[in-house]
Amino acid sequence: MSLRLRHLGYDVTVVDNNPKPGGRAQVYQLGEYKFDGGPTVITAPFLFDELFRLFGRKRSDYVEFLPVEPWYRFEFADGSKLDYGGQLEDTISEINRLSPGEGSGYQRLVAFSKNIFGVGFEKLADQPFHRFQTMIKQIPALLALKSYLSVYSLVGSFLKDDRLRRAFSIHPLLVGGNPLQTTSIYCLIHYLERKWGVWFPKGGTGALVKALEKLMVEVGVKLELNQQVNKVIVDGSKACGVRLESGEEKFADLLVFDADPPKVYRDLIDEKHRTKWSNAKLGRLSFSMGLFVWYFGTSRSYPNVEHHTIIMGEAFKELLKDIYDRKVLSDDLSLYLHRPAATDSSMAPKDKDAFYVLAPVPNKLAKIDWQEAGERIRLQVQNQLEKTLLPGLGNCLEVSHFVTPDDFEGKFNTLWGSGFSIAPLFRQSAWFRFHNRSEDLENLYFCGAGTHPGAGVPGVVSSAKVVEKLVPSSRPANESKFQEIFHSKSRTFSLATFLLPKERAEAIFRLYYVCRTLDDWADEGQGDKLKQAMVSWKNHQPHELLDHYRYLQARWGLASQHLTELMEAMIGEQDGVRIQTESELIKYCHGVAGTIGLMTCPIFGVTDANAMKHADDLGIAMQLTNICRDVHEDAKSDRIYLPAEFFENSPTVAVLLSENSQCLKQVSSVKSRLLSLANEHYASGERGIHFLPLRMRMVVRWAGRMYKEIGELINEDPVRYNQNRAVVSGSRKMRILLPCIFKAFVS
Ligand SMILES: Cc1cc2nc3c(=O)[nH]c(=O)nc-3n(C[C@H](O)[C@H](O)[C@H](O)COP(=O)(O)OP(=O)(O)OC[C@H]3O[C@@H](n4cnc5c(N)ncnc54)[C@H](O)[C@@H]3O)c2cc1C
Repeated sequence: MSLRLRHLGYDVTVVDNNPKPGGRAQVYQLGEYKFDGGPTVITAPFLFDELFRLFGRKRSDYVEFLPVEPWYRFEFADGSKLDYGGQLEDTISEINRLSPGEGSGYQRLVAFSKNIFGVGFEKLADQPFHRFQTMIKQIPALLALKSYLSVYSLVGSFLKDDRLRRAFSIHPLLVGGNPLQTTSIYCLIHYLERKWGVWFPKGGTGALVKALEKLMVEVGVKLELNQQVNKVIVDGSKACGVRLESGEEKFADLLVFDADPPKVYRDLIDEKHRTKWSNAKLGRLSFSMGLFVWYFGTSRSYPNVEHHTIIMGEAFKELLKDIYDRKVLSDDLSLYLHRPAATDSSMAPKDKDAFYVLAPVPNKLAKIDWQEAGERIRLQVQNQLEKTLLPGLGNCLEVSHFVTPDDFEGKFNTLWGSGFSIAPLFRQSAWFRFHNRSEDLENLYFCGAGTHPGAGVPGVVSSAKVVEKLVPSSRPANESKFQEIFHSKSRTFSLATFLLPKERAEAIFRLYYVCRTLDDWADEGQGDKLKQAMVSWKNHQPHELLDHYRYLQARWGLASQHLTELMEAMIGEQDGVRIQTESELIKYCHGVAGTIGLMTCPIFGVTDANAMKHADDLGIAMQLTNICRDVHEDAKSDRIYLPAEFFENSPTVAVLLSENSQCLKQVSSVKSRLLSLANEHYASGERGIHFLPLRMRMVVRWAGRMYKEIGELINEDPVRYNQNRAVVSGSRKMRILLPCIFKAFVS
């Protein structure tokens, strides 16, 4: 989260009670062995690529992701096995080997989870869910996807063999849920794996944490470790700082917790400040299970053990009831065994092996004395492994360390020592989960496992994306200033934006403010400011003006490349301009205007890649029109955009400023040529208008046609508009508007 806030231009300080960064992804070093403490299965790796890209970096320069194969091996109590992973066909043939004929059911399960993924991940995982309307709007899709079923029931409707049902129902356990109760929406994890595979960072998950830490330091995020936050300082209805255990107080414009939200609300914020999350309401929540994790190193290697092995006990449903309902320790545990050296040999000393084994257990709402039970369970697990996958384990143990729900409560501050915060039940998901923007206090935000979309590395990273969309701009809002500038300086578009929904119009005003300011610097000979902006942009440093663009990037997904191209083109025209060829001119027009068309696409809600060319062309067309309108003015600033190849002799400033009829004729004919080039681009722009939502179609078509009209005026009376700027009259604008309204409804 800190990186995303930094990207928005905030000064960020991370405060964490642990001695090392990484939270639940701590690394434990025991002698010559090192162990990843938590996450080991990396899915949706693109989320990290995206994070590094925000700062113009490549993730692969910081950490390498290795493919894991198979993704998991399932070991069943009857001695049978199933390797899951690879291509779809590999899994189908494994399933048919285990249970002949069931491969087709699996195929249907994958197809169904793809649909769930399309809604649950692609559409909703990084979208704020703080409005109830957002939830209501999703209800039909969620019902169609049978979200009222549990994961186990949904999987059971496709697969008959109980071993397969269990194996393909485990995904909720990866995010703390009971497969018998967790909404089938979580089947999306199944497709997440299928789509992007399962990965392991070279050097372990700790290497990923190190890579993120390096990036944080490089971009100026401050990290304060071993600092326990004991209180949220509240001023009226606003969270304004934190008090540390040491007594030190830290004040901030925004507080973002990725700590466990129920714990933060219950223990760090006085109840008098909480209307939504009262202690009574917090007491009614259902929590994820606890985790018993044993880390151990062996003096020998176990090369036949895969990277991720799920060892299923005899009774699946009974175990789940013990964990979630009866809240007792079972003597028939299901285990997850992690052997990272299977993928990366550096994860264990030579000829030795390093493991962790994880058993889901009841959280601390159960009356279990972990001081006593810990070693007992460790022995139980050791015996179970010794009898199955790790013969002779007891004799070759070199190092050993385990954690229990006591540690999750004490070390990671999770309420009831849960492994994954509140359980992923339907009634605790999306709008019903802890909101990413606090309902109780202003300036307080949450990301991480307890918030939308939920636990697990992809969920937690996505939750940071949601917060990024919710926090205010790092610069004073000033919406009215942007709007004023827009309406006073852009008369052509001014009327058009009245037709936009408020949020989009505000984004357009802000974008206009950024581009217009850059343009003013370019026009007013403030090239130094432009160049400085470019340096800050390329080095990802905060910048008063460009942080507004970063803010738009976070909210609307604008690309970095377009602003880079825009500034490059503007810097390129600082020391006079002599365009030689048509293609050079088109490249320039793309830089200064096509890019703006492209920037507006996400604000208008256009994501289809096919639409981009048309948006670019519309910008190019408008810029060509601008060039024809401003030949005189530009020439006075030593800028000649009319391509030299269109003249017999390269045009000079004197020729362009001349009133001589021969010169006028020549310039008018070049302008006319450029205006027909513009018309081809307007036509392409019009062809792309159907990609826009209905209301935007009218706005964009109107804006385009009004611009095109400037070209018509120039063509109609080239002498008059040689020195004078062609301006479309109000009545003409209205005349253009009517067919645009009509077309918007029929196209
Ligand atoms: C054993 C285990 C295995 C897992 N395996 C996987 C896996 O393979 N794949 C996967 O995708 N996910 C996995 N997960 C889930 C994933 O690790 C978590 O969902 C995710 O790391 C949670 O991130 P977070 O930022 O919400 O919380 P954390 O990582 O816990 O970070 C929160 C940090 O805030 C600190 N903090 C809390 N309160 C305070 C306070 N008052 N003052 C100061 N600091 C505080 C905490 O101590 C912690 O360091 C696993 C989890 C565990 C425990």
